[in-house]
Amino acid sequence: MEGALTAVPVTGPALRGSRCAACAVTVHPADPGCPSCGGPAEPVALSTTGTVWTWTVQRYAPKSPPYVVPEGGGFRPFVVGYVELPEGVRILAVLDGVRPDEMRIDMPVVITAGDGVPRARPADPDSLPRARPARQEGGVS
Ligand SMILES: [Zn+2]
Repeated sequence: MEGALTAVPVTGPALRGSRCAACAVTVHPADPGCPSCGGPAEPVALSTTGTVWTWTVQRYAPKSPPYVVPEGGGFRPFVVGYVELPEGVRILAVLDGVRPDEMRIDMPVVITAGDGVPRARPADPDSLPRARPARQEGGVS
């Protein structure tokens, strides 16, 4: 099985998808046959930026493999969500560099890696709110 990433000169790594020559439907992962019309589809490097379509928090360790236990062991909850790319494709990705209380729908993100489950991170980490919302202070985390 081929990896989910392909090297794209200049812009860096990008997810590999496919686009139908007949109806232009684009999918990820790449599929030689169009799921919409059945026509032949061509490999295409997908956009490396998108926006969060929806998200949730993974609070228990997924089955391993494919889940890779972090170095040092243990499990930490992480954010996972669908990232919508300009092609209209929604990619399931682990969202790095952001806490659950910082998440919001339509957050701009950059696809950073994708060997196995794609990963993404906020496009502008400096724009993230670093203070917890008042309603969560003193609450159970
Ligand atoms: Zn098609």
